Amino acid sequence: MRIILMGPPGAGKGTQAELLIEHYKIPHISTGDMFREAIKQETPLGLKAKEYMDAGALVPDEVTIGIVADRLAQADCSKGFLLDGFPRTAAQADALAKILSDLNISLDGVINLEVAEKILLERLTGRRVCKQCAATFHTVFNPPKIQEVCDKCGGELFQRSDDTIETARNRLKVYNEQTEPLIAYYSKQGLLKSIQGDGEISQVFRNIVEVLE
Ligand code: ADP
Ligand code: AMP
Repeated sequence: MRIILMGPPGAGKGTQAELLIEHYKIPHISTGDMFREAIKQETPLGLKAKEYMDAGALVPDEVTIGIVADRLAQADCSKGFLLDGFPRTAAQADALAKILSDLNISLDGVINLEVAEKILLERLTGRRVCKQCAATFHTVFNPPKIQEVCDKCGGELFQRSDDTIETARNRLKVYNEQTEPLIAYYSKQGLLKSIQGDGEISQVFRNIVEVLE
């Protein structure tokens, strides 16, 4: 299964990705997670990405496209993959089309999670992420069993530095300007499957699997 998960920041892409990669046994390719890991390791990529992420802006296309092209060429992607948070611009979508055509493969579907803006802001500002395994929780909507501790691996939870109200607002603006147009791009190709993203996490998951099968 080769899938793209689209939707504004806070729509539930990472949350659904955790369930989908388990269900389909495919690798999870999250450009946001890759950048956060690079920042943690203090690599040149991390240093470059950090200034954009802290501002709620997009990391430049040439950097982002390069890391995805390298990742998709790895052996574990031959059985499928789930792209989460990529593409986010028209240039990234065009580059992805070229990468996939060079690899002689095509997408099975593009899932677009739809959630109202007011809910997105509540989700982003209450989000908590595991330092160790990147699993996602929410202080109110999806709390861990033990406060600030990851249910999955026991790691410590933290609040992302870009999940403040100001940065979250900017990320939503950037989404509306640069990423939202990709909905029409994939719709024209007959690949788009829009899903209401504001139900129960398990219900949203069932709805996604239903449209993919
Ligand atoms: P994205 O990857 O699209 O930015 P996340 O998966 O990180 O979004 O979800 C953002 C926040 O919303 C997290 O705190 C997550 O626990 C919470 N969340 C995700 N899906 C739902 C849902 N269906 N209902 C309520 N809260 C949700
Ligand atoms: P996410 O984890 O998907 O919310 O992404 C966090 C941040 O990483 C974004 O606000 C961007 O700064 C950066 N980022 C992630 N994916 C991309 C992408 N495809 N293009 C550009 N920047 C990205």
